[in-house]
Parts: sequence; structure tokens; C-alpha cells
Amino acid sequence: MPFCPKCRYEFVEGVKKCPDCGTELVDKLSEEQPVSIKWVPVGTLQSSLYGDMAKELLEKNGIPALLITDFFHGALTTTGTSMPGSYAKVFVPEEKTFQARELLKNYVDIDLE
Ligand SMILES: [Zn+2]
Repeated sequence: MPFCPKCRYEFVEGVKKCPDCGTELVDKLSEEQPVSIKWVPVGTLQSSLYGDMAKELLEKNGIPALLITDFFHGALTTTGTSMPGSYAKVFVPEEKTFQARELLKNYVDIDLE
């Protein structure tokens, strides 16, 4: 998998340049300490299934994504009818939030942060 040596993101095969900084991608990162990523939430989906879709969409577009399901279980719902797996919260690295929001709002039914 190609990596951007600057941003340290992994991209899909075939990508030659980093879409963010324009740096030529490399096959492997050097031995330097990895930059720690600050994960921020971009939005909440109504089921873990949609969460998986959102994650896949983001990753296809070169945005690393974390999915936390049931994040709000018991906290957001006042009805008490929430079932396990009924919420999924998507996290992306802080510098990718704008890009992630743009993608998600067009393709996924999501409550953006
Ligand atoms: Zn880059």
C-alpha cells in the first residue's frame, strides 16, 4: 500500500501523489516515530450497518476512519427503545474532518457533528 511520507496516511493502490500535500507516495514509511493522530468525531449514524458504509466510503477516499458503535447507547435516547448496535459514531483524523463531512453528507444518511 502506498503511504504519504508527510501525512503518514495509507492510500489505495494506484494513487501516486498525496491528495492533501502533493507529495509523491512511498511504499513504506521510514523508521521515524509516527505522528500521533488526533481522532475527532464527524457524525453519528443510525445503525452500525450505515457506520460500516461510511467507514468504507471514507477509506476508499483515502481517509482513515474509526467506528465506535453504541457510543450513545443509553445517553442519546430518551425512549429506552435503543437496541445494541443502533448507533455508530465515525471518527477521522482532525485534519480530515472537512473532507470527511463533505463526503459523508453527500452519500450517507448521517447526523453531522
Ligand atoms: Zn500528504
